[in-house]
Parts: sequence; C-alpha cells; structure tokens
Amino acid sequence: AWREPPATTWTRTVCPYCGVGCVLDIGTADDRIVATRPALDGPSNKGHLCVKGRYAYDYVDADDRVCAPMLRRDGQWQRATWDQAIAFAAEGLRRIVSEHGPDAVGVLGSARATNEENYLIQKFARVAIGTNNVDCCARVCHTPSAAALKHMLGTGAGTNSFDDIEQARTLLVVGANPLENHPVVGARIRQRAKHGAHLIVIDPRRTGLAGIADIHLAPQPGTNVPLFNALAHVLLAEDLVDHAFVDARVDGLGTFASFIQAWTPERAAALCGVPADDIRRAARLYAQERPAMCLHGLGVTEHLQGTQGVMALIDLALLTGNLGLAGTGINPLRGQNNVQGAAVMGCEPGTLTGSQRLADARARFETAWGVPLPRSRGLNVLEMMDAARSGALKALYVIGFDVLASLANATETAKSLERLELVIVQDLFLNETARRSGHVFLPAVSSFEKDGTFMNSERRIQRVRQALTPRGQARSDAETLCRLVNALGRGAWFSRHRAEDVWDEVRSAWPAVAGIDYTRIDQQGLQWPCRGPDDPGTALLHAEHFAHGKRAVLERIDYQPTTEYTTAQFPFLLTTGRNLHQFNVGTMTGRTGQQLLRPTDTLDMHPYDAGQLGLDDGTQVRVASRHGQAALRLRITDAVAPGQLFASFHDPARALNQVTSPVRDCVTSAPEYKVVAVCVTPA
Ligand code: SF4
Repeated sequence: AWREPPATTWTRTVCPYCGVGCVLDIGTADDRIVATRPALDGPSNKGHLCVKGRYAYDYVDADDRVCAPMLRRDGQWQRATWDQAIAFAAEGLRRIVSEHGPDAVGVLGSARATNEENYLIQKFARVAIGTNNVDCCARVCHTPSAAALKHMLGTGAGTNSFDDIEQARTLLVVGANPLENHPVVGARIRQRAKHGAHLIVIDPRRTGLAGIADIHLAPQPGTNVPLFNALAHVLLAEDLVDHAFVDARVDGLGTFASFIQAWTPERAAALCGVPADDIRRAARLYAQERPAMCLHGLGVTEHLQGTQGVMALIDLALLTGNLGLAGTGINPLRGQNNVQGAAVMGCEPGTLTGSQRLADARARFETAWGVPLPRSRGLNVLEMMDAARSGALKALYVIGFDVLASLANATETAKSLERLELVIVQDLFLNETARRSGHVFLPAVSSFEKDGTFMNSERRIQRVRQALTPRGQARSDAETLCRLVNALGRGAWFSRHRAEDVWDEVRSAWPAVAGIDYTRIDQQGLQWPCRGPDDPGTALLHAEHFAHGKRAVLERIDYQPTTEYTTAQFPFLLTTGRNLHQFNVGTMTGRTGQQLLRPTDTLDMHPYDAGQLGLDDGTQVRVASRHGQAALRLRITDAVAPGQLFASFHDPARALNQVTSPVRDCVTSAPEYKVVAVCVTPA
C-alpha cells in the first residue's frame, strides 16, 4: 500500500480556515505537505484540530491552481509574463484614475492575506491610487459586530478569550453553530456544558449545541431584536439588573427602562414564536448564573438589523454586569482565519490601521506616510457594486475574495462586475469573479507559502510561517503589490515588503500592537492591546473601564422587520450558512478530500413540509426567491422548523447567492443572508 513519505521538516503556523486560529505543525518532504499535527500549546486549540485544519490542505497543489499570470485576450484567458500582466494592470489603473479620478477604483483585501499584506493593500488604495474605496470580506460577516462593539464599548473586537469558556457558569450561544463552523471552540463549549455550565442556545435551527442546551430559543429568522428586547424586559421587570455594575459604569437606565417596558415576552413571542416562559427562563439563567459568556455568530449580524442586534446583546451584558470579568463578555466568533485582521489593518473605507477613524487619524498617517490622504468617504464592497452598476466605479482590484460567488443577490453582482472596465483578480484559482469578469489574473500563494501574521477571534496575533516554496510563478500579495506600485511610479511609499518589516510599520502606525514584535510571538501569539515590550497583552477587555474612556450607554433598539416575508407564492424562509466539512465558497476545501465527505450543497427541510410537497430525501429541487433561483439536493431533517429551510453555500456551481436578497444591515451594509422568502419545487 502507498504510504506518505515521512516529514523531513516541521513548520509551525496557523490554520488557514476559521477564526479560532488553531496552531499546527506542517510536516513537509520534497517541498510537499505530507502531514499535520496540532500544536499541544496552541492557545486556542491546545492539541486539537478539526477535520478542515487537520486534513484540508491539498488545494495547495490542486491541478487547476493557476501559477502564472494571465491576461484575457479576445475573451480568452492567455498566459502572460509578470511584466506583461503588471504593465497591463498598471496602465489600466493609470488611465482610469486620469480619466475618472481615483474614486473610480475599488480595492478589496482579504482574510486569506496576512495582516502585513492587508496593511499594504489599504495603503495601496489610499496612497498609490488615492481613494478610500477599500474594503474586505469582513463586510459580509462581522462588520456589524465590530461596529456595535466599537460604538458601545470603544473597541470593535471580542471582549474576552477562548479560555474564558472554561470560566463561565453560563454560556449563551447566539446565531452560531460552532460545532460545525468553529469546531475546536464548539468542542470546548460542549465540554464545558457537560461539566456543569448552563447552556442557552438562540438559533432558529436545532443545532448540535441546541440539542444539549438547557434552553433552546428558536426565533423566526429575522426576529432577533424582539427576542433580545424581551430578554432585557425580563431583566428589568424581575429586577435581575446588576445595579452595582450599572451604577458604576452604565448610563441611560431610566430611558432604557421606559423603552423596554413595552417589550413584554408575550409581545415578542407573537413576533418571534418563542414561548414567553422560555424567554423568562433564559433571562433568569443569564442574569443569575454568572459569570455568563455570550458567543455569537452570523445569525446575529447578517440581518437588516445586524449591528443593532449586536447592540441589543451588549445591552443584556451591561444590564447583568456580564462584562469586564473572566467568563463573561460579548464574543463574535469570526468566520475566517484573518477576517478581523483584514478589517483592523484598514481594509475598510472609514478607518485606518487599528480601526482608527479616518477623521481622527488622518493627520498622523499623512505624517507617517509622507503623502496627503484622500478625503472622500470611500465605498464599501456593496456600495462599490452599486457604483459599478451606475457607471461611477470603473476598476476593481480584488485580492483573495470571490465577490461574485460570495455576495448576496448574485445576479445584480454579475451585472455590476460586467460593467467594469478593469477587474484585476489576485488569487490561487480562476474563481467565479475571474472566470466571469476578470481582465488580469495575478497568481497568489497560499498561507503555507509565505510569512506573516494572522489575528484570531480573541485578538491574538500569531505567526504564519512559510513551509513550502511558492508554486510556479505565484507570489505573495505583498510582493505583487510592490511590483504594481513600482509600475505605477509610487514605489517610494512601499520600500518594504518583507513581512517583519511591514509588521514593524504596522506597530508604529497602531499603538495597541506596539509591544508585539516577531521575537515575542515566535513561540506564542499575543493579544492586543499590547502597548510596550513589557506589556503581557490583554486577555480581557474593559476590566476597569471601557476602551472609549467613558461610561457605556444602553441602546434602545426599535424593531424593524425585514422586507423579506412569506406569501402563498414564497411560503418558506430560507437561511444560508456553512457546514463542518466545507468552508465558504469552497475555493480551498472544494479541492480537497472534504469533497468526498460533503460533495455538494443541500437544502434542509422539515419532514412535515417535505410530506406536504411530496418530496423525498435526496430529490433535486429548485429553490426560488423574488431575486433568483438555484438547484439543490433536498435533505429532510427536523433540525429545521416547519416553514423554514437551511442551505449551505459552498458549491459555486449551485450558485445559492442567486437566491439571497438585496437587503443589507442598515448600519454597515452587511448582506442579509439569513432571511429570504422562497418556494421549493422539484427540479
Ligand atoms: Fe482550523 Fe477553525 Fe478547525 Fe481550528 S477550528 S482547525 S482554526 S477550521
């Protein structure tokens, strides 16, 4: 029987998938990955890996990996030299900036890129192009969490650490399915629950954790805010408020109490379908069995009221004093390895590195970079698509982000991309965006082929180390950016692209990581803020005071129903999400053995509904919304409630985002992937 050759070299790095940030050792022989091992001292994984981190790395040498630059000529992709591709991209950008101004260009960073690369990406947009039109994939997941946490507490990041899971007496898991999407953390939650912690799960589906929870609240998709408000109502009505904490650190209790009086559990129950008594029980448990730790996912953020939903959760933590202590807090489970890093490095239109608001930090960055920065507001990725459709945006430089497969309402995204005069795609593969709309393809490397750092969900900066030589002519995003900048004649501002040098520039731009240098994180990562060489980093935020230096203010959130509603024509509410074996739009896991375990997307339907429609398990069905349609295989399961559906979105060929809606979070524009009204018919 064939056996893998034994590894000759072991390289410590970080898993390229979810935001848990598991540390692993990559075993290589003859410049190929032949084995992986979980790091026993990995801070978040402690010797564990899930099925993705352990096995799903074959994409690095997939047959269809593109390892040479390409140009589309006469409608066909043709191989080009690096000089030709860079010259084409630079000439196109230069022409568009000169004819239409810098704001006719958009730039997208990526969770796939390191912190250092994302820092360079946003600097490229602002300095080399002269626009604040820069964003990243955080827009479609946890930007609402960052916005809500920054607004209310002063830091747009999770408040506690994964080690707090073992400190909590109650775990509140909201709109997240960590057993499948953050499996190592999911397992820690399950262990903690089995060892006596109380577990409350809020999710429309009966997820694995919901099945073992003390209380499972299953709201109708789109009704988080009424449910969270009713929980707050019970805290006030039954005097479960931590008055000492509120007196010391929170303002607005009086006006909040008046507002929340109307949000009785009975009123919320009528909207969200959760029994009023269950709401009362959950509120009592969260308030009385402290410390209570909230971990939330995209079931909170990917809604019309995504940011406001997170604010309502923060209200609950403030009212009960479940903040600033071990085993408490509001903790977004970030979906991708470095999605938080991408945004925090400045791949957001309104913020510079360190989530420093443009208006506040502009002068400092102008001095540091020696160049005036653009004054325009800048567009996020959804607004870029709108601007492309209207003709205002002419060029898009997209790095490690398959926008066509990823954004909701894909038919409109396709129209936007088709109107662009120049689409530069930098990736490992000819993804859907490149296939349909790309003009230049610049081959990138995987995280196993480069150095740098990633930032996990608990604000930990960890080293990413090169274990393989770059394949073919593929180059790191940092190196490619520097080539492009030189071709644009702006190279003076990008003298360095070696990862450690760029990180040192980040440290000088953002005081909260000034104390994190490569030597200190050689063995173990550090959590920011970490302001100096003797600072041990910060496992727990807001212990003494909130990061904005003020008292927190309770937010009164009115309920705004989504515009997605069921009718006789569209009788089901569909939620989309991920599953254990695959990851996002399948760019990586779709080219690994995970395909055997979960080869295609499925549509989950309750047995009652399947019976009513006369559909059998495994039938090919057509799911159609007001926006588009897709074909999926039916999976009959009582994990979804009657009238509701769930589908995964990993297979670009299924094009599930043809079905999702144009509704966006009213604060940050994150798409509402979690609610769309659909009908189902045999395919
Ligand atoms: Fe990778 Fe997340 Fe799995 Fe850890 S839990 S191995 S970070 S996918």
